[in-house]
Amino acid sequence: MKSAVYPGSFDPVTYGHIDIIKRAAAMFDEVTVAVLDNVSKRPLFSVEERVRMLQMVTEDIPNVHVDSFSGLTIDYAKRIGTHIIVRGLRAVTDFEYELQIAQTNRKLSGGDVDSIFLTTSLEYAYLSSSSVREIASFGGDISICVPPEIGKLVYQKYGMEPKNLNNPEKQGEEA
Ligand code: ADP
Repeated sequence: MKSAVYPGSFDPVTYGHIDIIKRAAAMFDEVTVAVLDNVSKRPLFSVEERVRMLQMVTEDIPNVHVDSFSGLTIDYAKRIGTHIIVRGLRAVTDFEYELQIAQTNRKLSGGDVDSIFLTTSLEYAYLSSSSVREIASFGGDISICVPPEIGKLVYQKYGMEPKNLNNPEKQGEEA
């Protein structure tokens, strides 16, 4: 059985992540989406909240499983018995960073854990969790970045009502 792990912060999960998850799920028998509990970052959502959000948006994909981990991704990959790390690439800037991490992981794992990269779908190339947080913090419309149920939770974090700014008639109504 071919399995892979898709690690990340997912703070919060965006349509860009969901696109990568769906495409990975079509390639592997089993995909574990793993939320990294990184103490050096100060996330908006707790690990438990991020796991829950990922479960919500992947519940219709039977071969996707959501988990969390701390420490090295290669150690986690070994623990769950997978040899492949999936990452998404948006731009050249992602590439430099990802290349270094992939090479380090491969070396550290003694060649046991390799990485594969899925290039972003063009319609999601501009999406990042950090821009979602920034736009929402100023009350902007994030409906093109995240599913409605995730958007609602993001606005809640900033003490705001869910918005539907794409549809002025629905402004202020529940998304
Ligand atoms: P990290 O903080 O580990 O970079 P992220 O949650 O930001 O984690 O992203 C996890 C993975 O998803 C990374 O490989 C990242 O490049 C990829 N990714 C993020 N946004 C997109 C997007 N819009 N399209 C494709 N891949 C993406």
